[in-house]
Order: sequence, then structure tokens, then C-alpha cells
Amino acid sequence: MIPDFEKLLDVQRLDSQIAQLEHRHNELAVRAEIATIEADIATIEKTTATVQAERDEVSRAQKRLEDQVALIEDKLSEINAKLYDGGVTSPKEAQTLQEEIASITRHRSSIEDGVIEQMELAEPLDSQLETLAADRAKLDESLESAQGRLKVEGQDIETELEAVRTDRGVAAAGLADGLLDTYEAGREDFGASTIVVLEGSNCKGCPLAMPAMEVDRAKKAPADQLYNCEECGRYVVK
Ligand SMILES: [Zn+2]
Repeated sequence: MIPDFEKLLDVQRLDSQIAQLEHRHNELAVRAEIATIEADIATIEKTTATVQAERDEVSRAQKRLEDQVALIEDKLSEINAKLYDGGVTSPKEAQTLQEEIASITRHRSSIEDGVIEQMELAEPLDSQLETLAADRAKLDESLESAQGRLKVEGQDIETELEAVRTDRGVAAAGLADGLLDTYEAGREDFGASTIVVLEGSNCKGCPLAMPAMEVDRAKKAPADQLYNCEECGRYVVK
């Protein structure tokens, strides 16, 4: 076999090793763990956003009621001032103001009940948010630890990959023009068996057996040319 074909077979073998290492790298169990944690984090984020929106609505409602109470307080101070600054002389007018104070005070009381209601609504939401934040923190920790493990486990494979890629570069260097391109294009269809060695009377890629005429053609082809098997499309060397 001419040296270029030997090199090409080396390149093919190293490419298979690279593919296997990449597959192992992608399939590390810790990756599945990371994906699960990330999905859990996404779920928690979604739930947190929903609960937080509810909580914000409660805050806004409470603020609106508190603002109303403040306005009522102002109004009461105003009436009280009027009532007690000595300006009111008629008992009827004084009575009207006192009735107004009583009515406004009742109104204030009902609004204050509303404030308490909102505070009661807020309580379970706050505790839910706390739980969610604690769960989230735990997940963040787990994620960090899993990513750390991925780095360590991945590192060994990456080191090996680097070495194999270097070997591949060496094997591919100096190959005759076009040879590598032909192989690489064929690899998309035939992967690890793009280049096959003619053994006895068989191209390893042919589905059943290589037809006799095809064997004959392959055998007669010049030894320094890649023979393209007409039966299966692979490249045959000998
Ligand atoms: Zn074939």
C-alpha cells in the first residue's frame, strides 16, 4: 500500500477515536444531571415570577388603601381644627362636624380593615417566596457542584482529545492534494468506513459481497489511486 493510503487510514482511525471521545464527552452522566437542575431552576424562576407578581399586586393594593387612610387623617385633622379652634359657635354646626367626624372615622376603620386584609394576603405569599428562594439557592449550589464535576471529568477526555487531534494533524499533513477532501466528503456518508481495504475478494462496505466484476476492477485499478466502489460508494485501497 502506498504511504499516502496508509496515512489516510491512520487519519480515518484517528477521526473515529475523536468521534468516540466527543461522544463520551457529550454523554457524561453529569451533563444529564446539569440539564435536570437547569430545568428545575427554570421552573422555580417561573413560579417565583408568578408569586412575585401576586405579591406586588398586594403591595400596590395596600399602598392605595394606606394613601386613602392618610387622606382621611388629613381630613379629620382639618375638621377637628375647625371644631376646636373656637370658630364654630352654633351647636348645630358643631353637631354636623361631629357627625362628619364619626362618619369619616367609620370609613377609616373599614379601610384599615382592608389594609389588614392585604397584610394577611401578603403573609403566605412572602413565606412562599422565601421557600422558593431557599430552593433556588440549593439548586444553584447543586449546579455549581455538578459543573465542577463536569469540568474535572471532561478534562481527562479533553486532554485525550487534544492528543488525538494532534496525531490526526500529523497524519493528515503532506497528503497528496485532494485526497483528504475526497475522504472528508465521503465521511459524511460512510463515517469510519469511508476508506476500506480490499481484502481477498471483498470491499468491506459492500452490503452482501462485492460483485466479481467489481472485485476485478478494484484489483486492476492503479495502486496509487483511490478506487471508488461502484456497488457501495466507498473508497477501496489495497
Ligand atoms: Zn463496496
